Amino acid sequence: MTSGSEAAKNSGGQLGRLAVLGSTGSIGRQTLQVVRDNPSLFSVAALAAHSAVEEVVAQAREFHPEFVALADEQAAARAKAVLGAECRVGAGDQAVREAAALASVHTVVCAVVGFAGFSPLLAAIAAGKHVALANKESIVAAGPLVKAALRTSTSVVVPVDSEHNSVFQCLLGRGRGAALRKVVLTASGGPFLHHTAEELAHVTPASAVAHPRWSMGQKISVDSATLMNKGLEVIEAAMLFDLRAEQIEVLIHPQSLVHGLAEYADGTLLAALFETDMRVPIAFALSFLRSNDPKSTPGTAPVLSAVPFLDLAAKKELHFFAPDYERFPALRLCQRALEQGGTTPAVLSAANEIAVYAFLNQEIPFTDITEVVKEVIDLHCSKTLETLNDVMQADAWARECASYVKLNARLHGRACAAGNP
Ligand code: NAD
Ligand code: MG
Repeated sequence: MTSGSEAAKNSGGQLGRLAVLGSTGSIGRQTLQVVRDNPSLFSVAALAAHSAVEEVVAQAREFHPEFVALADEQAAARAKAVLGAECRVGAGDQAVREAAALASVHTVVCAVVGFAGFSPLLAAIAAGKHVALANKESIVAAGPLVKAALRTSTSVVVPVDSEHNSVFQCLLGRGRGAALRKVVLTASGGPFLHHTAEELAHVTPASAVAHPRWSMGQKISVDSATLMNKGLEVIEAAMLFDLRAEQIEVLIHPQSLVHGLAEYADGTLLAALFETDMRVPIAFALSFLRSNDPKSTPGTAPVLSAVPFLDLAAKKELHFFAPDYERFPALRLCQRALEQGGTTPAVLSAANEIAVYAFLNQEIPFTDITEVVKEVIDLHCSKTLETLNDVMQADAWARECASYVKLNARLHGRACAAGNP
C-alpha cells in the first residue's frame, strides 16, 4: 500500500507521538512495550480500548496520554471518574475515532480486533495520520475503500501483521513491478495441524486459543486454528500489495521463523525471518513511519524491539509444506471470496466474527465455524463495493445471517436469502 518514496510524506502531528487503538489487547500491549523500550523516540498521545478500565487506567498513569477513549460508555464513565483530573476521557465509537485523529498524533497503531477497527482506520486516514495497521478485518472487508481513502490522503500505511510486514520489507528492495511473480505467506498450522477431521469436531475453546507459537487475542487464535486467519491474510495481501489470488501462496511452516517471502522472475526468493514475537514487526512499522517522515532527523537512533536476535544455527531445521485444504476448508473459502470480490470478503469476515464468538461461547462446535461462513457466503449475492454504505450493509447483513445460520441452518437460511441486500 506504500513504497519507499511514497513514505516520504508528512503526517500531521508531532514525530513519534502515537495513538494506540486497542491498547489493552495483545498487539496494543506489545506496542506499549516497544514505546517503553524506546522512550526517546516515541510517546503516547492517545489510548483507546473497548472496556478494560483497570488496564487502560494503569496504561494512562504510565504513559500520560492527552486522551483516553473507551468504546463502552459505562466503562468510559468509570475511567473518567478515576482519570478525570489527569487526562480527557471520551466515550463511545466517536471517541475512538477522535483518538485516531487527534492533532498531536503522528502515527496511529490500529490494533482493534474485528470490523470495529474500520471506522477508526478511516478517521486516521482522513486526518492524514500514518498508520501501523494490525487490524486485518478492515482491509479484508473494505480494502478498495481504504485504498480510495489513501489516494486523497498524506497517510502511509505499513502492515504490522507479521507475514505482510515481512513481504513489505522484501518488496522495499525490488518493488512490485512485472518482475514480481508471487508472494508467500507462511502459517504455523495452529494447534490442530495434525488433527484428524473427527478430532477437529471435538476440540474445545481452551485448546483452540492455546496457540503453539504465538501469544495472541482470542479471536485471531481461533482463526489460526481454523486457518481462516491465513485465508484472511491472503485477502489482506491481495489488497495491500495489489496482487491476484494466484500470486499468493500459503505454506505451512511450523517453526514460524520465516514469515513472508517474495519471488522474482529471475528465480530470487527474498524472505524475512525473525523470532516469533510481534514486537519485531511493530518496531519495524513504527521505525519506518518515523524515519521516512520529512520531519525526521537522518541518522536518528534505530528503534529497538528488545527481541533476541535470531540464532539460525541453534534452530537447525526449517520445514515447509502445503496446507491440507480438505481438513482446513477456510483457505479455499477465502480464495473464493477474493476471486468473487465486491461485498463477499466483507460478508466472509463478518460471518466469521459471529461464528468464532459462537464457538468461544460453546454454542457451536469448532468445525461449524467454517460451515457457518460457507453457508452465509452461499446465500450472499455479491455486489460491487463502492461506498461506505455498501460495506456497512454487507457487514450488518452477514452478521444477522450468520446468527440465524448458526441457530438453524435450513430454516433461517431461507430468511437470509429473502433479506439479501
Ligand atoms: P485482542 O483481542 O488481544 O485485543 C483487541 C483490542 O481491541 C483490545 O484492546 C480491545 O479493548 C479493543 N477493542 C475491541 N473492540 C473495540 C472497539 N469497538 N473500540 C475500540 N477498541 C476495541 O486482539 P489482538 O490479538 O491484539 O489483535 C488485534 C488485531 O490485530 C486483530 O485484527 C488481529 O487479527 C490483528 N493481529 C494480531 C496479531 C497478534 O499477534 N495478536 C498478529 C497479527 C495481526
Ligand atoms: Mg499474521
